[in-house]
Amino acid sequence: MTTYPCYGRIDGPIVMIGFGSIGRGTLPLIERHFEYDPHRVTVIDPSDAHHTFLAQRGIHHVQTALTPENYRDVLGGLFERDRGFCVNLSVDTSSLDLMKFCRETGVPYIDTVVEPWAGFYFDTTDNAQRTNYALRQRVRDEKAANPGGTTAVSCCGANPGMVSWFVKEALLVLARDLGRPVEAPGSREGWASLMQSLGVKGVHIAERDTQARRQPRPRDVFVNTWSVEGFIAEGFQPAELGWGTHETWFPENGHRHDSGCLSAIWLDRPGAITRVHTWCPTPGPQFGFLVTHNEAISISDYYTVGAPGAPDYRPTCHYAYHPCDDAVLSLHEMFGSGEQQTEHHILEEHEIVEGMDELGVLLYGHEKNALWFGSRLSNEEARDLAPYQNATGLQVTSAVLAGMVWALENPEAGIVETDEMDHSRCLEVQRPYLGPVEAHYTGWTPLTNRWSQFAEDIDEDEPWQFRNVLAS
Ligand code: NAD
Repeated sequence: MTTYPCYGRIDGPIVMIGFGSIGRGTLPLIERHFEYDPHRVTVIDPSDAHHTFLAQRGIHHVQTALTPENYRDVLGGLFERDRGFCVNLSVDTSSLDLMKFCRETGVPYIDTVVEPWAGFYFDTTDNAQRTNYALRQRVRDEKAANPGGTTAVSCCGANPGMVSWFVKEALLVLARDLGRPVEAPGSREGWASLMQSLGVKGVHIAERDTQARRQPRPRDVFVNTWSVEGFIAEGFQPAELGWGTHETWFPENGHRHDSGCLSAIWLDRPGAITRVHTWCPTPGPQFGFLVTHNEAISISDYYTVGAPGAPDYRPTCHYAYHPCDDAVLSLHEMFGSGEQQTEHHILEEHEIVEGMDELGVLLYGHEKNALWFGSRLSNEEARDLAPYQNATGLQVTSAVLAGMVWALENPEAGIVETDEMDHSRCLEVQRPYLGPVEAHYTGWTPLTNRWSQFAEDIDEDEPWQFRNVLAS
């Protein structure tokens, strides 16, 4: 029988908010790796889809949607002061309000995204207000206003989350391979100057999901490998990216912010129909979608050298996501029709017959051109490693596990993002669940293999300009 490391004891109630694809996959990892009283686990989720599954495990199910009006009462009735853990894996709940309440009560908290209350994504036409920049900045402002105190880990999934640990690991690999090996820096400033000194111009969060089932996607069904609701919401937000100091061009539909960390810009166009050129090991060059993500903003912020408004150095950073083929077709259908599909479906580990989630960071623009560093986890391997999830799910849930371990070991760290955590400890916990974690160099640039028959607005002298990355 396999034995699993126990990373500590959680005294008091464990409250999981949301029990969708990620919640279901996180539960068995909590069961494996922590000591706790199994009768003290509660799931809050308005859906009854997994009620029987929970009941069979003796897990208390509060079948309610948290709202701005009820969350203090519902959570207050479950929490105990300075004990337990709150694991937020829901949609349509405000991460900021929930984390503030947890910290007031002394309950450690973790989530995988800065989620707003229902309505935020679609109820306004003010696109600057609908950005992740705005969502993240409120959490950063809360951190600045109330430093320290009970740990609340913000945005600790695969991405945002694990990829920030990969950036650090990739920097150490690149330093070694350039003949300039270094000890892992001990401060934000140290990491930022390491990235600058290695000549990294930017980072793609470069992902290719090749998981597929046998059945072709039926019309009018949005198929994905994780939350359909979550993907549609972020896909409809404006495209966003951390804006680096090497950029010499500015997109016509681009907008800057006038307050906050100033690390990012947004484009007046939905991310899920904004294509970028990128690279992953299996396909080589490919299109990805420039879907907005917290890490695009946090990584550019974390690695800034100098004043936020006039930095000496800052990397460009954005997501370049090729979701599973069924999700690409689903997006095509949804944006083409102007209507959301009536049915949503998340591919389960047992119906997937092939494919992997290849998720890494592509550090580009340096002496060795570009380095992809990441996890290449197949669904087949994921099925052997942990139950109730596909490869995408396991990359996320194992990051939640790592974040919980770090929070237990650092209980008074205040509000943190994954860039601010000990990446080697977190990856030590997570790595057994990631399949092959590999480094690949490539000579590819966004100017390689362009279709020369059509004129494009490109900069032929500076391959790694965002102008060349953005597909016309
Ligand atoms: P899902 O759609 O499968 O499940 C979401 C669950 O939240 C559902 O069971 C739903 O009933 C529940 N819910 C809805 N409204 C609620 C409310 N008001 N109160 C409590 N529960 C509510 O989503 P998922 O795939 O499990 O993803 C969960 C979250 O994790 C999403 O926010 C998603 O964006 C995020 N996520 C992050 C990453 C990452 O790498 N950082 C990856 C995947 C998912």
